Amino acid sequence: MGMILVTGGAGYIGSHVVKALGQAGYDVVVYDNLSTGHEWAVLYGKLIRGDVRDQEALDKVFKQHSIDAVMHFAAHIVVPESVRQPLKYYLNNVTGSLSLLEAMKRNGLRKFIFSSSAAVYGIPDKIPITEENRLDPINPYGQTKAVVEKVLADMAYAQDLDYVALRYFNVAGADPQARIGEGKEDATHIITMCVRTAAGLRPCLEIFGTDYPTPDGTCIRDYIHVDDLAHAHLLALEHLLAGGKSRVYNCGYSRGYSVLQVVEAAKKVTGVDFPVKYSGRREGDPPALVADATKLQAELGFTPRYDNLDHIIETAWRWEQKRIRLALK
Ligand code: UDP
Repeated sequence: MGMILVTGGAGYIGSHVVKALGQAGYDVVVYDNLSTGHEWAVLYGKLIRGDVRDQEALDKVFKQHSIDAVMHFAAHIVVPESVRQPLKYYLNNVTGSLSLLEAMKRNGLRKFIFSSSAAVYGIPDKIPITEENRLDPINPYGQTKAVVEKVLADMAYAQDLDYVALRYFNVAGADPQARIGEGKEDATHIITMCVRTAAGLRPCLEIFGTDYPTPDGTCIRDYIHVDDLAHAHLLALEHLLAGGKSRVYNCGYSRGYSVLQVVEAAKKVTGVDFPVKYSGRREGDPPALVADATKLQAELGFTPRYDNLDHIIETAWRWEQKRIRLALK
Protein backbone atom coordinates (compact mmCIF):
# COMPACT_ATOMS: atom_id res chain seq x y z
CA MET A 1 0.00 0.00 0.00
CA GLY A 2 2.74 2.43 0.98
CA MET A 3 4.73 3.79 3.86
CA ILE A 4 3.53 7.11 5.24
CA LEU A 5 5.44 9.49 7.49
CA VAL A 6 3.08 11.32 9.84
CA THR A 7 4.55 14.28 11.71
CA GLY A 8 2.52 15.12 14.79
CA GLY A 9 0.98 11.65 14.64
CA ALA A 10 0.83 11.45 18.44
CA GLY A 11 -1.41 14.52 18.59
CA TYR A 12 -5.18 14.82 18.53
CA ILE A 13 -5.86 14.91 14.78
CA GLY A 14 -2.68 13.11 13.72
CA SER A 15 -3.45 10.10 15.94
CA HIS A 16 -6.89 9.67 14.36
CA VAL A 17 -5.32 9.80 10.90
CA VAL A 18 -2.69 7.23 11.97
CA LYS A 19 -5.55 4.99 13.12
CA ALA A 20 -7.30 5.37 9.74
CA LEU A 21 -4.04 4.68 7.86
CA GLY A 22 -3.34 1.58 9.96
CA GLN A 23 -6.87 0.28 9.48
CA ALA A 24 -6.58 0.80 5.72
CA GLY A 25 -3.37 -1.25 5.60
CA TYR A 26 -0.70 1.44 5.24
CA ASP A 27 2.63 1.25 7.05
CA VAL A 28 3.04 4.25 9.31
CA VAL A 29 6.02 6.03 10.79
CA VAL A 30 5.00 8.65 13.34
CA TYR A 31 7.44 11.49 13.91
CA ASP A 32 6.52 13.62 16.92
CA ASN A 33 8.45 15.60 19.53
CA LEU A 34 5.74 14.73 22.10
CA SER A 35 5.50 18.38 23.16
CA THR A 36 1.72 18.07 23.13
CA GLY A 37 1.23 14.53 21.78
CA HIS A 38 1.12 11.26 23.71
CA GLU A 39 2.65 7.85 23.19
CA TRP A 40 -0.65 6.16 24.11
CA ALA A 41 -2.33 7.92 21.18
CA VAL A 42 -0.28 6.06 18.56
CA LEU A 43 -2.35 2.96 17.78
CA TYR A 44 -0.43 1.85 14.69
CA GLY A 45 3.11 1.94 13.33
CA LYS A 46 6.36 3.05 14.79
CA LEU A 47 6.87 6.20 16.88
CA ILE A 48 10.08 8.18 16.45
CA ARG A 49 10.61 11.05 18.85
CA GLY A 50 11.97 14.05 16.97
CA ASP A 51 11.40 17.64 15.95
CA VAL A 52 10.55 18.73 12.40
CA ARG A 53 13.20 21.44 12.66
CA ASP A 54 15.93 18.79 13.11
CA GLN A 55 17.35 18.17 9.62
CA GLU A 56 19.72 15.41 10.72
CA ALA A 57 16.98 13.47 12.47
CA LEU A 58 14.71 13.82 9.41
CA ASP A 59 17.49 12.63 7.10
CA LYS A 60 17.88 9.57 9.28
CA VAL A 61 14.16 8.80 9.09
CA PHE A 62 14.11 9.19 5.29
CA LYS A 63 17.21 7.03 4.89
CA GLN A 64 15.97 4.27 7.20
CA HIS A 65 12.42 4.03 5.84
CA SER A 66 11.27 4.07 2.28
CA ILE A 67 8.60 6.72 2.71
CA ASP A 68 6.04 7.21 -0.09
CA ALA A 69 4.26 10.28 1.24
CA VAL A 70 4.42 12.73 4.14
CA MET A 71 1.49 14.04 6.19
CA HIS A 72 2.36 17.06 8.27
CA PHE A 73 0.33 17.67 11.44
CA ALA A 74 3.05 18.88 13.80
CA ALA A 75 2.09 22.47 14.62
CA HIS A 76 0.80 24.81 17.32
CA ILE A 77 -2.93 25.42 16.95
CA VAL A 78 -4.32 27.84 19.54
CA VAL A 79 -5.53 31.09 17.95
CA PRO A 80 -5.46 33.38 21.04
CA GLU A 81 -2.03 32.06 22.04
CA SER A 82 -0.77 32.87 18.54
CA VAL A 83 -1.94 36.47 19.01
CA ARG A 84 0.11 36.79 22.19
CA GLN A 85 3.14 34.71 21.13
CA PRO A 86 3.44 35.11 17.35
CA LEU A 87 7.10 34.17 17.10
CA LYS A 88 6.43 30.83 18.79
CA TYR A 89 3.90 30.15 16.02
CA TYR A 90 6.03 31.32 13.09
CA LEU A 91 9.03 29.35 14.35
CA ASN A 92 7.20 26.09 14.88
CA ASN A 93 4.60 26.24 12.11
CA VAL A 94 6.47 28.02 9.32
CA THR A 95 10.10 27.14 10.05
CA GLY A 96 9.05 23.59 10.95
CA SER A 97 7.21 23.13 7.64
CA LEU A 98 10.08 24.64 5.63
CA SER A 99 12.53 22.35 7.38
CA LEU A 100 10.43 19.30 6.61
CA LEU A 101 10.04 20.34 2.96
CA GLU A 102 13.79 20.91 2.70
CA ALA A 103 14.54 17.44 4.05
CA MET A 104 11.92 15.93 1.71
CA LYS A 105 13.47 17.62 -1.30
CA ARG A 106 16.96 16.50 -0.36
CA ASN A 107 15.71 12.93 -0.03
CA GLY A 108 13.72 12.92 -3.26
CA LEU A 109 10.24 12.89 -1.70
CA ARG A 110 7.45 14.88 -3.33
CA LYS A 111 4.04 13.80 -2.03
CA PHE A 112 2.84 16.01 0.81
CA ILE A 113 -0.41 16.44 2.72
CA PHE A 114 -0.66 19.63 4.74
CA SER A 115 -2.91 20.49 7.68
CA SER A 116 -4.18 23.92 6.78
CA SER A 117 -7.03 25.77 8.40
CA ALA A 118 -10.16 27.83 7.80
CA ALA A 119 -8.23 30.49 9.70
CA VAL A 120 -6.48 31.31 6.39
CA TYR A 121 -9.67 33.09 5.25
CA GLY A 122 -9.85 35.61 8.10
CA ILE A 123 -13.25 37.27 7.81
CA PRO A 124 -14.57 35.71 4.60
CA ASP A 125 -16.37 37.67 1.87
CA LYS A 126 -19.33 35.32 2.03
CA ILE A 127 -20.58 32.26 3.90
CA PRO A 128 -20.31 29.36 3.08
CA ILE A 129 -16.67 29.83 2.10
CA THR A 130 -15.32 28.34 -1.11
CA GLU A 131 -11.65 27.60 -1.68
CA GLU A 132 -11.51 30.58 -4.05
CA ASN A 133 -12.13 33.07 -1.25
CA ARG A 134 -9.13 35.36 -0.82
CA LEU A 135 -6.73 34.41 1.98
CA ASP A 136 -6.57 37.20 4.53
CA PRO A 137 -5.92 35.76 8.01
CA ILE A 138 -6.74 37.90 11.04
CA ASN A 139 -4.44 36.09 13.47
CA PRO A 140 -0.85 34.78 13.43
CA TYR A 141 -2.00 31.15 13.53
CA GLY A 142 -3.93 31.58 10.27
CA GLN A 143 -1.04 33.57 8.83
CA THR A 144 1.39 30.68 9.44
CA LYS A 145 -0.93 28.33 7.53
CA ALA A 146 -1.41 30.79 4.65
CA VAL A 147 2.37 31.32 4.34
CA VAL A 148 3.04 27.58 4.14
CA GLU A 149 0.26 27.14 1.58
CA LYS A 150 1.96 29.79 -0.56
CA VAL A 151 5.29 27.96 -0.27
CA LEU A 152 3.58 24.73 -1.34
CA ALA A 153 1.97 26.40 -4.37
CA ASP A 154 5.33 27.88 -5.38
CA MET A 155 7.09 24.53 -4.97
CA ALA A 156 4.39 22.76 -6.97
CA TYR A 157 4.75 25.37 -9.73
CA ALA A 158 8.50 24.70 -9.75
CA GLN A 159 7.64 20.98 -10.03
CA ASP A 160 9.31 20.19 -6.72
CA LEU A 161 6.17 18.87 -5.03
CA ASP A 162 2.66 17.41 -5.36
CA TYR A 163 0.53 18.36 -2.37
CA VAL A 164 -2.95 18.45 -0.95
CA ALA A 165 -3.66 21.22 1.55
CA LEU A 166 -6.71 20.46 3.66
CA ARG A 167 -8.31 23.52 5.24
CA TYR A 168 -9.86 22.20 8.43
CA PHE A 169 -12.86 23.91 9.89
CA ASN A 170 -13.55 23.02 13.56
CA VAL A 171 -12.38 19.51 14.27
CA ALA A 172 -14.06 17.81 17.23
CA GLY A 173 -15.15 14.49 18.71
CA ALA A 174 -13.11 11.37 19.33
CA ASP A 175 -12.68 7.76 18.33
CA PRO A 176 -16.20 6.23 18.70
CA GLN A 177 -14.59 3.34 20.60
CA ALA A 178 -12.93 5.88 22.93
CA ARG A 179 -9.41 4.56 22.39
CA ILE A 180 -8.04 8.02 21.53
CA GLY A 181 -9.20 11.64 21.69
CA GLU A 182 -8.09 15.09 22.80
CA GLY A 183 -5.34 14.50 25.37
CA LYS A 184 -3.98 17.96 26.04
CA GLU A 185 -4.53 19.07 29.64
CA ASP A 186 -4.60 22.68 28.45
CA ALA A 187 -6.90 22.12 25.46
CA THR A 188 -8.96 25.18 24.51
CA HIS A 189 -11.48 24.06 21.90
CA ILE A 190 -15.13 24.57 22.71
CA ILE A 191 -16.47 21.00 22.59
CA THR A 192 -13.60 19.73 24.75
CA MET A 193 -14.20 22.61 27.18
CA CYS A 194 -17.91 21.72 27.36
CA VAL A 195 -17.36 18.03 28.13
CA ARG A 196 -14.62 18.83 30.65
CA THR A 197 -16.92 21.31 32.38
CA ALA A 198 -19.72 18.71 32.36
CA ALA A 199 -17.27 16.21 33.91
CA GLY A 200 -16.52 18.66 36.73
CA LEU A 201 -12.93 19.39 35.69
CA ARG A 202 -13.72 23.08 35.27
CA PRO A 203 -16.00 25.35 37.30
CA CYS A 204 -17.80 26.82 34.30
CA LEU A 205 -17.82 27.17 30.54
CA GLU A 206 -16.85 30.63 29.40
CA ILE A 207 -18.59 31.98 26.29
CA PHE A 208 -16.33 34.41 24.48
CA GLY A 209 -18.35 37.22 22.94
CA THR A 210 -22.11 37.70 22.69
CA ASP A 211 -22.12 40.77 20.45
CA TYR A 212 -21.03 39.27 17.13
CA PRO A 213 -23.12 40.03 14.00
CA THR A 214 -24.75 36.57 14.12
CA PRO A 215 -28.36 35.57 14.96
CA ASP A 216 -27.67 34.89 18.67
CA GLY A 217 -24.54 37.09 18.98
CA THR A 218 -22.08 34.20 19.43
CA CYS A 219 -19.57 32.93 16.86
CA ILE A 220 -20.61 30.37 14.27
CA ARG A 221 -18.36 27.46 13.32
CA ASP A 222 -18.58 24.33 11.15
CA TYR A 223 -17.78 21.31 13.36
CA ILE A 224 -16.41 18.20 11.65
CA HIS A 225 -15.84 14.85 13.38
CA VAL A 226 -12.17 13.94 13.60
CA ASP A 227 -12.73 10.51 11.98
CA ASP A 228 -14.43 12.11 8.97
CA LEU A 229 -11.47 14.46 8.70
CA ALA A 230 -9.15 11.44 8.92
CA HIS A 231 -11.09 9.85 6.06
CA ALA A 232 -10.55 13.01 3.96
CA HIS A 233 -6.81 12.53 4.50
CA LEU A 234 -6.98 8.99 3.19
CA LEU A 235 -8.77 10.20 0.05
CA ALA A 236 -6.15 12.94 -0.41
CA LEU A 237 -3.40 10.36 -0.02
CA GLU A 238 -4.99 8.01 -2.59
CA HIS A 239 -5.22 10.97 -4.96
CA LEU A 240 -1.50 11.73 -4.63
CA LEU A 241 -0.38 8.09 -4.71
CA ALA A 242 -2.36 7.65 -7.95
CA GLY A 243 -0.31 10.49 -9.46
CA GLY A 244 -2.89 13.23 -8.86
CA LYS A 245 -2.02 16.92 -9.04
CA SER A 246 -1.81 19.46 -6.26
CA ARG A 247 -5.13 20.48 -4.71
CA VAL A 248 -6.65 22.54 -1.90
CA TYR A 249 -9.85 21.48 -0.14
CA ASN A 250 -12.10 22.79 2.61
CA CYS A 251 -12.94 20.15 5.21
CA GLY A 252 -16.24 20.74 6.95
CA TYR A 253 -19.91 19.80 6.70
CA SER A 254 -21.08 23.08 5.09
CA ARG A 255 -23.21 23.75 8.17
CA GLY A 256 -22.67 26.13 11.06
CA TYR A 257 -23.58 26.12 14.75
CA SER A 258 -23.29 29.03 17.16
CA VAL A 259 -21.39 28.72 20.44
CA LEU A 260 -24.74 28.86 22.27
CA GLN A 261 -26.09 25.98 20.14
CA VAL A 262 -22.98 23.92 20.91
CA VAL A 263 -23.34 24.58 24.65
CA GLU A 264 -27.03 23.66 24.56
CA ALA A 265 -26.28 20.42 22.66
CA ALA A 266 -23.46 19.59 25.12
CA LYS A 267 -25.80 20.03 28.10
CA LYS A 268 -28.35 17.74 26.46
CA VAL A 269 -25.87 15.02 25.42
CA THR A 270 -23.99 14.94 28.74
CA GLY A 271 -27.14 15.35 30.83
CA VAL A 272 -25.30 17.96 32.92
CA ASP A 273 -26.63 21.51 33.22
CA PHE A 274 -23.12 22.91 33.72
CA PRO A 275 -22.56 26.56 34.66
CA VAL A 276 -21.90 29.08 31.91
CA LYS A 277 -20.25 32.50 32.16
CA TYR A 278 -20.55 35.21 29.50
CA SER A 279 -17.27 36.95 28.76
CA GLY A 280 -15.90 39.43 26.25
CA ARG A 281 -14.65 38.50 22.79
CA ARG A 282 -11.54 36.35 22.49
CA GLU A 283 -8.74 37.85 20.41
CA GLY A 284 -8.44 36.64 16.83
CA ASP A 285 -11.92 35.09 16.47
CA PRO A 286 -13.79 35.71 13.17
CA PRO A 287 -17.61 35.89 13.65
CA ALA A 288 -18.50 33.00 11.31
CA LEU A 289 -16.64 30.24 9.47
CA VAL A 290 -18.70 27.73 7.50
CA ALA A 291 -17.23 25.62 4.72
CA ASP A 292 -18.51 25.16 1.24
CA ALA A 293 -17.16 21.59 1.17
CA THR A 294 -18.67 20.56 -2.16
CA LYS A 295 -15.28 20.41 -3.90
CA LEU A 296 -13.97 17.71 -1.55
CA GLN A 297 -17.13 15.69 -2.15
CA ALA A 298 -17.17 16.17 -5.92
CA GLU A 299 -13.47 15.63 -6.62
CA LEU A 300 -12.37 13.09 -4.00
CA GLY A 301 -15.74 11.43 -3.35
CA PHE A 302 -15.81 12.39 0.32
CA THR A 303 -19.01 11.48 2.15
CA PRO A 304 -19.42 12.43 5.80
CA ARG A 305 -20.21 9.63 8.23
CA TYR A 306 -20.62 11.61 11.45
CA ASP A 307 -22.43 14.76 10.34
CA ASN A 308 -24.37 15.15 13.58
CA LEU A 309 -23.41 17.61 16.32
CA ASP A 310 -24.94 15.50 19.12
CA HIS A 311 -22.99 12.46 17.97
CA ILE A 312 -19.76 14.43 17.74
CA ILE A 313 -20.24 15.67 21.31
CA GLU A 314 -21.21 12.18 22.48
CA THR A 315 -17.92 10.70 21.21
CA ALA A 316 -15.98 13.53 22.90
CA TRP A 317 -17.93 12.93 26.13
CA ARG A 318 -17.32 9.18 26.11
CA TRP A 319 -13.61 9.74 25.49
CA GLU A 320 -13.35 12.39 28.21
CA GLN A 321 -14.85 10.04 30.80
CA LYS A 322 -12.40 7.32 29.79
CA ARG A 323 -9.45 9.76 29.91
CA ILE A 324 -10.41 10.75 33.44
CA ARG A 325 -10.94 7.12 34.54
CA LEU A 326 -7.54 6.01 33.24
CA ALA A 327 -5.86 9.26 34.31
CA LEU A 328 -4.14 9.32 30.92
CA LYS A 329 -1.25 11.72 30.81
N1 UDP B 1 -15.20 29.38 22.58
C1 UDP B 1 -15.88 29.75 23.73
N2 UDP B 1 -15.49 29.20 24.93
C2 UDP B 1 -14.46 28.32 25.02
C3 UDP B 1 -13.76 27.96 23.84
C4 UDP B 1 -14.16 28.51 22.64
O1 UDP B 1 -16.81 30.54 23.69
O2 UDP B 1 -14.14 27.90 26.15
C5 UDP B 1 -15.62 29.94 21.28
C6 UDP B 1 -14.53 30.71 20.56
O3 UDP B 1 -14.49 32.03 21.01
C7 UDP B 1 -14.97 30.56 19.11
C8 UDP B 1 -15.63 29.18 19.07
O4 UDP B 1 -15.94 28.85 20.42
O5 UDP B 1 -15.96 31.51 18.82
C9 UDP B 1 -14.71 28.10 18.52
O6 UDP B 1 -13.45 28.19 19.18
P1 UDP B 1 -12.45 26.99 19.27
O7 UDP B 1 -11.34 27.41 20.20
O8 UDP B 1 -13.18 25.74 19.60
O9 UDP B 1 -11.92 26.83 17.78
P2 UDP B 1 -11.28 27.89 16.74
O10 UDP B 1 -12.43 28.35 15.90
O11 UDP B 1 -10.61 28.98 17.51
O12 UDP B 1 -10.32 27.05 15.97
